[in-house]
Amino acid sequence: MNLILLGPPGAGKGTQARRLQDKHGLIQLSTGDMLRAAVAEGSEVGKKAKAIMEAGQLVSDDVMIAMIAERIDRPDCKNGFILDGFPRTTAQAEALDDMLASKGFKLDHVIEMKVDEEALVERVTGRYSCAKCGAGYHDKFLQPKVAGVCDSCGSTNFTRRDDDNEATVRARLVAYNKQTAPILPYYQQHNVLKTIDGMADIDAVTQEIETIIQ
Ligand code: ADP
Ligand code: AMP
Repeated sequence: MNLILLGPPGAGKGTQARRLQDKHGLIQLSTGDMLRAAVAEGSEVGKKAKAIMEAGQLVSDDVMIAMIAERIDRPDCKNGFILDGFPRTTAQAEALDDMLASKGFKLDHVIEMKVDEEALVERVTGRYSCAKCGAGYHDKFLQPKVAGVCDSCGSTNFTRRDDDNEATVRARLVAYNKQTAPILPYYQQHNVLKTIDGMADIDAVTQEIETIIQ
């Protein structure tokens, strides 16, 4: 099964993609994570992307399309994947269709997660993750069971993203509304779009997604 989780920054895409990965063995393909790895490595792509990401803008379509094309080609994607953060423009959505068609892959569901704008700002500014295993947390909505200790791996090191500040989140929301929201009618026309209430609590959102994919 191949899925797209679509929604603004903070909608809960990464949180739900990790759960789907653990439960169903689908691979989470997060273009944001790939770019952050490229920045950390200091690769050419990373050097170009760093300032764009800090400004809350979108990295160019050709770079992103090439990045996903290379990733989807790897053998682990044959058993199914969840796209998290891609596509973000109509050009990316069209390129993805061509890529899937050329590999004989089908797109089963595009799940739009709807969340109010002020809730998104609160979610993103309170987000942090385990520096060792990447498990995601929130200051208010998802705290580790033992304060300061990762539930998944026991590490006591946590990290926050440079772009998870209020000014950048507002810019990312503008980019989402202007460049990404226009791809929703594209998927609606292709009869694959399902919209869910991303304002519900994390377990309820997981349940909504499970109902769609079953
Ligand atoms: P995205 O990948 O869409 O940017 P995340 O999955 O990283 O969003 O979620 C953003 C923050 O909000 C994280 O700190 C996460 O723990 C928290 N979060 C995710 N889903 C919910 C939810 N349904 N209710 C409250 N907080 C949530
Ligand atoms: P994310 O982790 O999905 O919130 O993405 C973090 C940042 O990476 C975004 O604000 C963009 O600057 C960049 N980015 C991630 N995915 C894409 C994409 N598909 N197209 C363009 N830019 C992207």
